[in-house]
Amino acid sequence: MKDKTNKFYITTPIYYVNDKPHIGHAYTTIVADVLARFWRAQIGDKNVFFLTGTDEHGAKIAEAAQVAGMEPQAFTDKVSQKFKDVWSKMDISYDYFLRTTDKDHGKIVTEILKTLKAKGILYEDDYQGLYCVGCEKFITEGELVDGKCPDHNKVPQKVVEKNWFFKLSEFLPKIKKAIQSGELYIYPESRKNEVLGLIDKQHVPDFSISRSKKSVPWGIDLPWDENQKTYVWVDALSNYITALGYPKGKDFKKFWPADAQFMALDILKFHTLYWPAILMALDLPLPRLYIHGFFTIDGKKMSKTLGNVIDPNELADKYGAEVSKYLILSQFSFGQESDIKLEDFPIKYNADLVNGLGNLVSRVTNMIELYLDGQVGIKFKSLNLGHEELKQLRFREALLTIWQVIAKDNTLIDQSKPWELAKDKNKHDQLKKILGELSLDLYNIALALEPFMPQKSKEILDIITAKKIKKPASPLFPRL
Ligand SMILES: [Zn+2]
Repeated sequence: MKDKTNKFYITTPIYYVNDKPHIGHAYTTIVADVLARFWRAQIGDKNVFFLTGTDEHGAKIAEAAQVAGMEPQAFTDKVSQKFKDVWSKMDISYDYFLRTTDKDHGKIVTEILKTLKAKGILYEDDYQGLYCVGCEKFITEGELVDGKCPDHNKVPQKVVEKNWFFKLSEFLPKIKKAIQSGELYIYPESRKNEVLGLIDKQHVPDFSISRSKKSVPWGIDLPWDENQKTYVWVDALSNYITALGYPKGKDFKKFWPADAQFMALDILKFHTLYWPAILMALDLPLPRLYIHGFFTIDGKKMSKTLGNVIDPNELADKYGAEVSKYLILSQFSFGQESDIKLEDFPIKYNADLVNGLGNLVSRVTNMIELYLDGQVGIKFKSLNLGHEELKQLRFREALLTIWQVIAKDNTLIDQSKPWELAKDKNKHDQLKKILGELSLDLYNIALALEPFMPQKSKEILDIITAKKIKKPASPLFPRL
């Protein structure tokens, strides 16, 4: 948790452009967006930097481009644009979209590689193994089924070549210390323990940072060896600092280290071991890492074969960006392994948004219009509803706090029956007090909703802070 801060830097991973965006990408990006909006409201737009982007190099991309009959750059332009389009549709408020094929990124990666080599952190060695182009990695004998990669049903290539390696082993004791002291923050606790376990119990080998041009034709040239291309990690992970203009950029000086780097479980090792090692090698401070689990869709693992891969575009078409975000974030707590139940979406939409929030706004404003001539006569003040939860990245819990107030208010109306109080002149003060309390709650509900539903939040604020309060002409959330 970060309680007080004067800057906030948030990142999503850069997404690999071998495929189009799915709900897994959307989830990571939505939580980053909510957090960015929350901190902008606390410390100002200029003091928050929200980065996302696309990872565009590697053998898999070269292969996918070839299948599509395109040049790799044209292919990555196309897929990268799909990510930009869906984030625009989901109203994602990123400040910068990084592409690893950007010239500026490539230049800085080249400088970082030279620095690492000059410091003696890289060495040349034989790399041999079975390489699956589909996986874009070497795979072990044990992983093969009938001599083939089980994911791609292809016989892997036998590859022996000279590659450059990063001396990860030298950094592991320091990384362990940094995790234990909290200098390298990993959330949730279970993932932190998993990483400590990796360091303690298993051999975490040095990782290679280059490949021959033959095996990986599409990538950043290794500056001192024209036959080698940069392989994945230094290129991809450095994006978090190249986007800020490392080493001399104004934004880098202001925003690094990152306050929240979001990712899914599958890239845990690279972000909790490789990335801190690269940063330590560059003498840079360490970030805070937030890892969420995989989720299943209606109880099943998301897969192309099952045909249950959710396209965030379809969700946005059906429910709109803001409602989609609400439906996803309200289903499970950040960090947990969870199930997305699509069949619950329409039920939850009607219960929470139509009958819950929408109905409350309509009832309260209607009564203020009818009984108080649109004048509630109170001073609005912020009660910081949901702030503690959001500071701790407890997105679902922040929503639950808001919806507790909505439920409490709908009950208050049912029990106090303002329409009966309105018939009795002696009870006018009581009526005014209740409607005042309700409108103050609506004001705070709207403020608390801003990071999740900026447009609906503004609509409610406009209604409730108007000189003369009127019931909205059309419902805030129309029935499906
Ligand atoms: Zn494979």
